Amino acid sequence: HINRPWLKAYDPDVPPTLDYDKIPLFGFLDRAAHKWPKRKAIVFKNWSITYAKLKTQSEIFAANLKTAGIRKGDRVALMLPNLPQTIIAFWGVLRAGAVGVMTNPLYMETEIVHQFNDADVRCCITLDMLWPKLDKLRDSIPVEKFFITTIGEGLKFPLSTLYKLQAKKNGTAPKVPYDGKQIFSFKELTKGREKFTDKKVDHHDTALLQYTGGTTGVAKGCILTHSNISANMQQCHAMMHTLGKKKETFLGILPYFHIYGLTTCLAWPTSLGATLAPFPRYVPLDVLKGINKLKPTVFPGAPSLYISLLQQKDIDKYDLKSIEVCVSGSAPMPVEYMEQFKKRSGTSITEGYGLTEASPVTHFNPLEGISKVGSIGLPFPDTDAKIVDMDVGGEPLPPGKRGELVVRGPQIMKGYYNRPDATADVLRNGWLYTGDIATMDEEGYFYIVDRKKDLIISGGYNIYPREIDEVLHSHPMIKEAVSVGIPHETRGEIVKAYVITQPGEELSRSDVIAYCREKLANYKVPRKVEFRKDLPKTMVGKVLRRALRDEETAKVEAK
Ligand code: AMP
Repeated sequence: HINRPWLKAYDPDVPPTLDYDKIPLFGFLDRAAHKWPKRKAIVFKNWSITYAKLKTQSEIFAANLKTAGIRKGDRVALMLPNLPQTIIAFWGVLRAGAVGVMTNPLYMETEIVHQFNDADVRCCITLDMLWPKLDKLRDSIPVEKFFITTIGEGLKFPLSTLYKLQAKKNGTAPKVPYDGKQIFSFKELTKGREKFTDKKVDHHDTALLQYTGGTTGVAKGCILTHSNISANMQQCHAMMHTLGKKKETFLGILPYFHIYGLTTCLAWPTSLGATLAPFPRYVPLDVLKGINKLKPTVFPGAPSLYISLLQQKDIDKYDLKSIEVCVSGSAPMPVEYMEQFKKRSGTSITEGYGLTEASPVTHFNPLEGISKVGSIGLPFPDTDAKIVDMDVGGEPLPPGKRGELVVRGPQIMKGYYNRPDATADVLRNGWLYTGDIATMDEEGYFYIVDRKKDLIISGGYNIYPREIDEVLHSHPMIKEAVSVGIPHETRGEIVKAYVITQPGEELSRSDVIAYCREKLANYKVPRKVEFRKDLPKTMVGKVLRRALRDEETAKVEAK
């Protein structure tokens, strides 16, 4: 209980201190279009669109979705990389009153089948390159209509042709059998003049079912309402209120399908009338070139992203000086790289913290005021945070003591879709139990020190070891296996699998990796494999992941 304006006493009746706009999320796009109609809303290669046009495009999109049979509350999946089409579709889907299901384009078959069935996805908007994967699954997912775009769609000549040729050459442009019944071109959603906005959408309605493993690993849909996300945008703004006083340009490298990218690179900058610069693929050199060309002012990122940019040998050739604000979240940002980045760009990286269940940000180091390196900062406005004892009755702990970080605020999800038990595990008396272990100092700054949950964060991607373990266990020659996240210099963590083979059977590291590669998205595939005779276990026979992780950490520290 610290005397700071944004840390209120832990009293549920204290009214929020920010005056939140109680409008659906797309109301922020409408406002931006009204205030800055001629500003560029999106730039991509040789194509751009103004705010006035983006609004109109999203209205036309919503009208076409309605014609396609989509009604309020229907689930629409966006399985797309960061492209202008993703932004138009995102606003169009919400405007139609539908619920967005953001899907990682790297998902493999089992992951798609689980997510699409769990969310009961009726309509899916995707990319031609991803079609072969979806085509195979048509009988196992409830999707009635697919709308398919291409990377080059919308670009002006000659880039549009160039992209087509490139895709053909790389063998990445499959022939999509458009049939006008189930498979349509994306153009069907952008054509015509009819506009639509579902006026019945309330700010308390669900905007997204945002999938995450949460603390346990089974992918669950966080019910995020329009007001959850808009509250988080407004909280971001309160903590970084110097932004938006002039026209900003936001780099869109973080994937829009993850809530961190969606809120900080798409929704919030839209409310500021900023220009969005989407990058469909993270290629460090392209990003450096893009920074030179686009002169972005804001760069929301993650540690692995900043680190890999710093490792480009030609980085000094590029001018990074336009960047005024860099925010890092999703994993701990190593201090030495923060310093290196400051030297190169003249800009400090400010660290924050969040999780999907909180739309996502709950903590941030204030841009003005004291920013503490190594800390995730202070709770956002109207966000209460405390550290509680994990063993004895969940009692709040004083500064300096480590315990579970527990948060509460207007950005916290309503719950997990269709999973009352999992919801009850993490949402208790209005508090969200984050599964992260943290401490707080005397001045109310928080520090993440460990993770209670099994989550592995590698190169910015979240990986749940249980999913890898299941794949390993399905191998007929594997008797027992467990995977853990071990420290890695640039990726934060990498997956290591510990394997006990069936008696008399022999497997190699590459056999295990090849098997996993068939069944898992590439970023989840173990990078290291160790064969063992036994594994450390608790009294009840549960493998002690932590003991294995500690062994590896000790090896790194001994070096
Ligand atoms: P997600 O739901 O994908 O956003 O993942 C949320 C998890 O990422 C949190 O529960 C933390 O374990 C981790 N995380 C996010 N930000 C940080 C940070 N700044 N430092 C350490 N871990 C973080």
